[in-house]
Amino acid sequence: MIPSGFEYHAASSVQDAIRLLTENEDAKILAGGHSLLPMMKLRFAEPAHLVDINGLRELKGIDRDGDVIQIGAMTTENELIASEILQQHCPLLVDAAKLVADPQVRNRGTVGGDVAHGDPGNDHPAVMLALDAEFVIQGPEGERTTPANGFYLGTYWTGLGEDELLTAIRVPVIKTGTGYGYNKLKRKTGDYATAGSPVVLTLDSDVCREIRIGLTNVAPMAIRAEAAEDLLRGQVVTEALIEQAAEQVMAACDPAEDLRGDVEYKTHMAAEMARRSIRDALARARS
Ligand SMILES: Cc1cc2nc3c(=O)[nH]c(=O)nc-3n(C[C@H](O)[C@H](O)[C@H](O)COP(=O)(O)OP(=O)(O)OC[C@H]3O[C@@H](n4cnc5c(N)ncnc54)[C@H](O)[C@@H]3O)c2cc1C
Repeated sequence: MIPSGFEYHAASSVQDAIRLLTENEDAKILAGGHSLLPMMKLRFAEPAHLVDINGLRELKGIDRDGDVIQIGAMTTENELIASEILQQHCPLLVDAAKLVADPQVRNRGTVGGDVAHGDPGNDHPAVMLALDAEFVIQGPEGERTTPANGFYLGTYWTGLGEDELLTAIRVPVIKTGTGYGYNKLKRKTGDYATAGSPVVLTLDSDVCREIRIGLTNVAPMAIRAEAAEDLLRGQVVTEALIEQAAEQVMAACDPAEDLRGDVEYKTHMAAEMARRSIRDALARARS
């Protein structure tokens, strides 16, 4: 399919991108293009203007400052995978990036585009919820930061304004005593999740002090299974408790039926992905 006509603009700086978004009605950022261009070809999206931010080197790169890692929005999935900083200090993001699509898509697709798109099938949104990430956003009024928790409002609907640009993502360093896991069920390599669940938990003398359970592609947007988290927080996590938490995960799910499965199947698979990720996180936190 051929997309509708649009005007192309190459932004020369972050400020220029914001100016272009502000001055042109119905303008969209073009990052890796691996979600936006297929939607334009299918005419699900028909922006009048594309603002290309591929030339903005300041939006690339991964830096650690103490307990916080800052990732530029234009950093690609393959760059996440290759990053020694992430391999050492936030390996959950490396594991998640390896599960995104296929090598070609990972070569162009950016973490910022994955997060900003608001697609419940994308992997990074739920991972960012589990990590308690923060998003750095630049707009006409200047810079603001917002937590990932609360950013996802619905399908393709986020807390980003039409004239705002996601410039970076901040994630905490995963410390000793904190474990993580991301299990994703997919039909084949390169597919979106049938269901996925990233988990981050912190143990203190085997008591679960903090836990965040994200869910991918089993609701209109990426969500956290908060009732399941509440059940495990403050407890020594046993198999019996994991089973109760899995029930709460299922209660949080609201998937759409499609070729990947019906509502019942997806709901049960979300619970199974959460069980596995909780067990992985526990094992890592204890090691
Ligand atoms: C075959 C295939 C399989 C895929 N499988 C998966 C998968 O398993 N898991 C997964 O997570 N993803 C998957 N994807 C999606 C892929 O990871 C995309 O690259 C990603 O969703 C969007 O990143 P992008 O850089 O390509 O963004 P684009 O497509 O350029 O943009 C996506 C949207 O985000 C907006 N946007 C982009 N960057 C910014 C920014 N910095 N600030 C504000 N708005 C911005 C754009 O305006 C657009 O609306 C798949 C894609 C394909 C083609």
